[in-house]
Amino acid sequence: MAEKLQTRCVIAGGGPAGIMAGYLLARAGVPVIVLEKHADFFRDFRGDTIHPSTLELMYELGLLEEFLKQPHQEVRELRAVINGQTVPIGDFTKLPTRCKFIAFMPQWDFLSFLSTHAKEFPSFQLLMQHEVVDLTFDQQRVTGVRAKTPRGELEIRADLIIGADGRHSIIQARAGLERQEFGVPIDVLWTQISKKQDDPQQALGFFQAGKLLVLLDRGDYWQCGFVIPKGDFDEIKKRGLRQFQNDIVSFAGFLRDRVAELDDWSKIKLLTVQINRLRDWCRDGLLCIGDSAHAMSPAGGVGINLAIQDAVATANLLAGKLRTGPVSVDDLRKVQARREWPTQLIQAMQVFIHRRVVTGQTSHRKDSLPLVFRLLKWFPVLRQIPARFIGIGPRPEHFHSPSAE
Ligand SMILES: Cc1cc2nc3c(=O)[nH]c(=O)nc-3n(C[C@H](O)[C@H](O)[C@H](O)COP(=O)(O)OP(=O)(O)OC[C@H]3O[C@@H](n4cnc5c(N)ncnc54)[C@H](O)[C@@H]3O)c2cc1C
Repeated sequence: MAEKLQTRCVIAGGGPAGIMAGYLLARAGVPVIVLEKHADFFRDFRGDTIHPSTLELMYELGLLEEFLKQPHQEVRELRAVINGQTVPIGDFTKLPTRCKFIAFMPQWDFLSFLSTHAKEFPSFQLLMQHEVVDLTFDQQRVTGVRAKTPRGELEIRADLIIGADGRHSIIQARAGLERQEFGVPIDVLWTQISKKQDDPQQALGFFQAGKLLVLLDRGDYWQCGFVIPKGDFDEIKKRGLRQFQNDIVSFAGFLRDRVAELDDWSKIKLLTVQINRLRDWCRDGLLCIGDSAHAMSPAGGVGINLAIQDAVATANLLAGKLRTGPVSVDDLRKVQARREWPTQLIQAMQVFIHRRVVTGQTSHRKDSLPLVFRLLKWFPVLRQIPARFIGIGPRPEHFHSPSAE
């Protein structure tokens, strides 16, 4: 017999969307249970970017000062190395936000910070190693979830189920929500190489003849994302590790003395990149947010920000009603209505980046600088546009859901 629980809101997934939604709803006094299938937050596929708009939100929540005491790097200008030439891409110093930088912090630290604060609210529960495996229904209404736990099966009934379980969402699949796929021509090979004190400062990425290497500074090592054409991993493996090491060095020569650390393919993980979006983000009793509603590519490094903005809109629009009872499907549609066009816009930008910048339709000449980058180099004022798009995004959300009495 499955153990049974009842609550007001259950959230599947403890990523940026799920933990932020859980925090905000609990802060508003809504009883909420977040279910995360892993035992901890330590997973490498996640980006490390905390955007100026998220930092603004931390300020609005009164958490900024403490947050900035966590180990992080502050990046005020994004630079890319394109065909060997360093180009400033985004200048965050003119943004109309308190923090005029992107904070790079391992995402597990960010999620631990936020969930620790969420646990201060009596109506918040986070259950790790709880994997949602199915939904329960009463006719057309979604009434709860079934989860696999270390103690056996658990069934939780709730007035609202939020799917925040990422791009391989079981919630959207079980709810039968229709998904539109937008073709993505790339995948990412994800690995780590040690870092030395005199290494150059973090750049957005190294572009070369239509290929891209991203290096994220994680203190004592570089998290490396090597962008490859979709489906090419087997071919790359056939060419051998030595060739792969050489490829990395051709982008970032300073790694030459340690690229041999990549001495086994088990150290290199293939991450398949997707861009898709649900036609309807909700149905009676259920709402999907973050990558579960719209899987984002790493292009532009904006997926985390978007997931958090969804969570804020969800709390702003639903928390007041959820405190006292269920919400209607019309209430849920308001979240989609608010967040859909910013998502469409960003996904369109990601598709553009894949086609024109990453897969090299722009230029295959080794020494050339595509026009858009030449303009960014010549006219510093233009760097404020990508900074705004990446750092704040279209339609930034501000916290205004009620606080618990
Ligand atoms: C290689 C790569 C690099 C990226 N880099 C960046 C970047 O630098 N900056 C950026 O802004 N974006 C980046 N993105 C995009 C970003 O990772 C996503 O847009 C963002 O993580 C979405 O947040 P989320 O909370 O919706 O989903 P996720 O971060 O995917 O979180 C979902 C959570 O749900 C859990 N879960 C899944 N299934 C279940 C289940 N059945 N039951 C319970 N829990 C479950 C997962 O374990 C996970 O913790 C990157 C994406 C990729 C693929």
